[in-house]
Amino acid sequence: MLQVDQLRVRYGTVEAVSDISIRVGERDFVSVIGSNGAGKTSLVKAISGTVASEAQRIEFEGVDLRAMPPARIARLGIAHVPEGRKVFRTMSVEENLLTGALGHADARKRLPTQYELFPRLAERHRQLAGTLSGGEQQMLAIARGLMSRPKLLILDEPSLGLAPNLTDQIFLFIQRVHQELNMSILLIEQQAAEALDLSDRTYVIESGRVSIEGPSSSLASDDSIRRSYLGVR
Ligand code: ATP
Repeated sequence: MLQVDQLRVRYGTVEAVSDISIRVGERDFVSVIGSNGAGKTSLVKAISGTVASEAQRIEFEGVDLRAMPPARIARLGIAHVPEGRKVFRTMSVEENLLTGALGHADARKRLPTQYELFPRLAERHRQLAGTLSGGEQQMLAIARGLMSRPKLLILDEPSLGLAPNLTDQIFLFIQRVHQELNMSILLIEQQAAEALDLSDRTYVIESGRVSIEGPSSSLASDDSIRRSYLGVR
């Protein structure tokens, strides 16, 4: 479904991604883990077209995404939920959701599915997004991404800044989205244990390169991963 080969992202003289190749298949749940500054966010921004990149290939369902504007990439069925829960704070929950389906005549008809998945948003559909808790804002950001009915959902550190119990809830929702909507997921996470637990396959990124990749269950029992990312001595 998604194929990225030899991706490179530079910001002036800073090389954030040196050489990354990844694959996401239909209905796959793929995670990308790595420490701060490893290049994870730059990787997904390059896929959604929000930063310039060079690559041998960035292809989604056979379509070349290189140099395509972000709005067209989104229309092909890729939803990118960026780091930092960027909701429209002065708009209501429902208005935020509707922005996720702009240009679709049936936008309102898409709301019930989101409210079913995230009952908390249904209860608060009139509340201003800026007054939601951090966890609720993250739910809203994910639900807004789903409003476009994507084929691939990219989530950049959905657990960032959330208390542990909320993090667990968000991960449960992501699992439901994957299972109930049969959606392909590309999850960027610093919380390696959870990412390995949820996903089928994982890429470990170090200094702009893939250092290890494989089935998440094998990586979870790999000694070097356990020491470096799971805090096991
Ligand atoms: P984190 O987990 O901390 O979010 P990350 O793995 O997502 O990190 P990136 O955000 O992709 O990493 O950043 C990779 C490198 O590129 C870092 O060294 C970062 O400082 C640098 N970088 C990112 N964005 C820019 C920018 N707009 N201008 C200059 N350097 C940048």
